Amino acid sequence: MNPTSTLTSTDWHARADALAIDGRAFVNGRRADAHDGKVRPTASPIDGRILAEIAACGTADVNRAVESARRAFPSWSRMGPENRKTVLLRLAGLMDRHAEELALLECLDSGKPILQTTTVDVPGAISTLRWYAEAADKQNGELPAVPPGATALVTRESLGVVAAIVPWNFPLEIAMWKLAPALASGNTLVLKPAEQTSLSVLRLADLAAEAGVPDGVLNIVTGTGREVGAALAHHMDVDALAFTGSTAVSRTLLEASGRSNLKRLSLEAGGKSSNIIFADTSNLVMAAEKAAFGAFYNQGQVCSANSRILVQREIHDEFAALLTEAAAGYAPADPLAGLNGNGALISSAHTDDVGRWIARGRAEGGVLFGGERRVIRGSDAYLEPTLLGGLAADHDVHRDEIFGPVAVLHAFDTEEEAIGLANATDYGLAASVWTSDLSRAHRVARDLLAGTVSVNTVDALGNTTPFGGFKQSGFGRDLSLHAFDNYTAPKTTWIQFG
Ligand code: NAD
Repeated sequence: MNPTSTLTSTDWHARADALAIDGRAFVNGRRADAHDGKVRPTASPIDGRILAEIAACGTADVNRAVESARRAFPSWSRMGPENRKTVLLRLAGLMDRHAEELALLECLDSGKPILQTTTVDVPGAISTLRWYAEAADKQNGELPAVPPGATALVTRESLGVVAAIVPWNFPLEIAMWKLAPALASGNTLVLKPAEQTSLSVLRLADLAAEAGVPDGVLNIVTGTGREVGAALAHHMDVDALAFTGSTAVSRTLLEASGRSNLKRLSLEAGGKSSNIIFADTSNLVMAAEKAAFGAFYNQGQVCSANSRILVQREIHDEFAALLTEAAAGYAPADPLAGLNGNGALISSAHTDDVGRWIARGRAEGGVLFGGERRVIRGSDAYLEPTLLGGLAADHDVHRDEIFGPVAVLHAFDTEEEAIGLANATDYGLAASVWTSDLSRAHRVARDLLAGTVSVNTVDALGNTTPFGGFKQSGFGRDLSLHAFDNYTAPKTTWIQFG
């Protein structure tokens, strides 16, 4: 079944106005106020409206959530993968039924267009949940060769209590990339959403309770990274921490693990990904359309955004013209209008930060298109898709993550030069290559230091393929069966009978 086929609403503004949102945390199977009763309002970047009062949790709430996850662990881990699968598939069914509501919450909370949350974010999260639920009972152990007179079994054991800390750019989807494999493999979870975007995962937790996920198996603790995130990272009874966010915060998590209980970490951190377009590309129009998608989709707030576009010199001008045309499809518009195009960035303050990069690009090189801020529905968190050019190859714009709809165009001459430019960052998350020469495709893909290399497309991603980085983009992989490695460990049982 196509989960988007049931989406019916057209008047999203009316539905948004009628929403009553519960911003309390979710601990031990039910909604809960913060221990000290504190709340923090959360505003929509779309138009500044206050959406809800979110529980401003702290250490006491983290402790309560971890205790409840610990209590729930023995029975959840021992109930067996087939039973866990049944419960998780029930949750996926409930998400289908509540897809519009989840999509609306995601749109209001993050500023993404409703067209995107209804067709990508929510269906994507549901499909990931189904994929891991189905994978749960299809994992086998090993019987390794051992000396005569013995048998050894190698089983995959769940780790216990997992904490997940996630960012605001794909709140529901990235939460699901952690939640689904962690729960399917028998762990219990304490999830901390980004403080800007707690609403969709809180609603997901209500649905989990309705689906029969036992109390304590899934807990959502809302609050800041400094309080809730750090308390989870330092907690002595959290066995593993799965993180997606910045490289800077990743460093603090490594330190916290070392200072506490050596909890296992999987870190999906930042990126600065290149898209290399060779002159032998057979379909330059498609390359330009995909380049615009790779750089500007989701307001450019994508860890693997292909925000460095490297073009072979002889096609530079032709490609720049095609890219200018394609980028027009990412002009910002009212996110609730049901239109194509971009929505709001996560906040006005973040838009200021991105705007400073544009100002630098303008002063030190040039703006090839875009660069203007827009006010829509009274909010100034909207930016035109922007292309910078004329900047030195070692300029900060080529190395630092901007996390907005801003790309940089740069010409190269040789294959070797393109690979060198692409690899000249601290990150190693993704890269794309456009060529119709098969040998070149293999050669360049081999030499690029990136967790995913897309050839003749951009930012290829799916449930079946691992996603994660090299270098300072982190370690551990989301998605695919490899994600189970973040949440399980091999156990050897050696039986001597001779
Ligand atoms: P961030 O690192 O500031 O925050 C991410 C999460 O960490 C949030 O929930 C935040 O509250 C929490 N946090 C902040 N400080 C913390 C601390 N001291 N201890 C514990 N937790 C803390 O990142 P962001 O601004 O929300 O998101 C943007 C970043 O995320 C970008 O760098 C982007 O590349 C990265 N990202 C990476 C991937 C990936 O898969 N590699 C995917 C999406 C986003």
